[in-house]
Amino acid sequence: MYLLFITLTLIASQGVKAAGATSSDPCPAIDLSDFAGDTDPTTSLCLYIEESGATQLEDVLHSNIEWVRNQKETVNFGYDPSTFWVRLRLKGLSHLPPDVFLRLDYPHLDIIDFYLVSDGKVHEHYESGDTRPFSRRPVDHLVPLFPLTGKYGDQADVIIRLASNGPVVIPVDIRSKSSLDDAEKPILVWYGVYFGIMGMMLFYNAVIFIFVRELNYLLYIIYLSASAGLQVALYGLGFQYLWPESTTLNNLMIPLLTALMPFAAIAFVWRFIGLHRIGTWIEKMLGGLLYLGFSGLLIGTFVLPYSVIMKVVYVLSLIAISLGFYVGVKYWIKGIKEARIFALAWFFYLFFVVYYLLYITGLAQPNIISMHSIEIGSIIEMTLLSLAFADRLNVEKERRIQMQIALNQDLDNLVQARTQELEAANEKLHRISITDALTGLANRRHFNCQYREMFSRCQDEDVPLSVLMLDVDHFKAINDNHGHGFGDLCLQRLAEIIRNHIPDDAGIAARYGGEEFIAALPGTPEGDAVQTADNILHELRRTTISDGRTCINMTASIGVCTIVPEQETQMTAQLNEADRLLYKAKNNGRNQVISVSTA
Ligand code: GH3
Ligand code: MG
Ligand code: MG
Repeated sequence: MYLLFITLTLIASQGVKAAGATSSDPCPAIDLSDFAGDTDPTTSLCLYIEESGATQLEDVLHSNIEWVRNQKETVNFGYDPSTFWVRLRLKGLSHLPPDVFLRLDYPHLDIIDFYLVSDGKVHEHYESGDTRPFSRRPVDHLVPLFPLTGKYGDQADVIIRLASNGPVVIPVDIRSKSSLDDAEKPILVWYGVYFGIMGMMLFYNAVIFIFVRELNYLLYIIYLSASAGLQVALYGLGFQYLWPESTTLNNLMIPLLTALMPFAAIAFVWRFIGLHRIGTWIEKMLGGLLYLGFSGLLIGTFVLPYSVIMKVVYVLSLIAISLGFYVGVKYWIKGIKEARIFALAWFFYLFFVVYYLLYITGLAQPNIISMHSIEIGSIIEMTLLSLAFADRLNVEKERRIQMQIALNQDLDNLVQARTQELEAANEKLHRISITDALTGLANRRHFNCQYREMFSRCQDEDVPLSVLMLDVDHFKAINDNHGHGFGDLCLQRLAEIIRNHIPDDAGIAARYGGEEFIAALPGTPEGDAVQTADNILHELRRTTISDGRTCINMTASIGVCTIVPEQETQMTAQLNEADRLLYKAKNNGRNQVISVSTA
């Protein structure tokens, strides 16, 4: 943005050379006999502009060159490769107090030769200008100062030779030391405020960058640093304090930083608004071209002349600012929050630039705000962008939290689903582990567990516990005659019958092994148990088992033993007894129930 005002300053000042001078010589002498601390001799300056650069001091002193008096309030020639000779005729010098200086209040002139001449003789020659080491200056000061003295007589001419690759601005005044201090105090305060704010913003964004590691912040930090660095160079602070002996660096810094600033700005604006995602192809192309342009300029600063670089920078910057503002407003209207703050930031910048232009064209009063409105605008802009960054950080944080919550929820659901699956699988495994695969009744192991539990329950409650042991009669023959598969079918039908007569709430029925089944009926006295056994045999007898080809009826024998449990040793005894009774039934002719009770 700085570039914009420089451009317009230059455009506004182009007329000075032609319109601001008259050919009426001798410029009036400036009388310093009643010098009160400061004098502005601008409108009494004589100028001689010479394009070839061949004129020597001798020519100026002795030949009859045509001096032209300046009548403008400010002397500004913009970019002009000519050599400028300035003459100030001074009188009353012997009345001057000590420490009075002629000040050239612009730190960027390349070559300045100051001569104090009287009676055609050069008494003092001072060198200054930013293509010469700072130490050659007669006074160590931000802008060139030249001591004025009356020791060579009451009258003298000051002759200054100037040449510069950059704009030729010649703001001259004569000041005492104390008036200089007073005049520059607010400027120093301003430097403190400006660099303080910039320093804080740099620190703040650097800390955020260290934690967040987002490229955006780095680009923004480069933008901030380039802006602050450019001010350091423009104010002349860099030359005075940072690189006083390096004239190369001094002349490189302004174009380099001027190109680096928009370079970083475009890069971060690009990412900030997300142009690579939402931009139209024209915007992307223009952005890309600008980027290429500034990249080229960055390299160009090392090889091209200052004035060429700066002119290209102005044009590119104007395009960049216009595009930036257009993009900001467009995406603001489209409802992109970042673009709104962005457009606002650039609006303030533009506003203060316009204010500055009003000030330099004389339409606004000079004051601390108008004179520094470029920097003020830039600070507001950067602060707004910082706020936008902070806001984005919050939004980002919120988005991450929401994402984390959603992710946790997903994870929860997944864990829950997996747990349910696992529980179902476990349940299935458990069922398989306690079930006989062929008949679906409980297996022997599960029966043993359940029987043990029922035994102690009946023991506690002092009620009878009946055990039924069942074995199919002549099952081997069924297998032999009709095949193992048919034998299996018979076992399944028998299991169904047993299940019908001994439901889960009555007790437990299980396959004990081979074609042998067992059941335990807690709380069931012998009579009821025998009845159940009879019912089973009865139904079995009248059930015809058929696989479509073979039909048979089969019988079984059952031993029933009922006890009222008293001690654990009775468990094995009861099972053995039931088994014994079963075989007794076999021996007795099969197809019958034999029981015993100790209850
Ligand atoms: P008894 O009346 O004396 O009990 O004679 P039985 O033929 O039934 O007795 P035995 O113990 O001699 O034969 C039992 C047969 O049961 C032998 C075996 O092949 C058969 N068996 C055991 N388990 C299975 C099975 O899971 N499926 C089939 N199809 N047969 C089985
Ligand atoms: Mg058998
Ligand atoms: Mg058997």
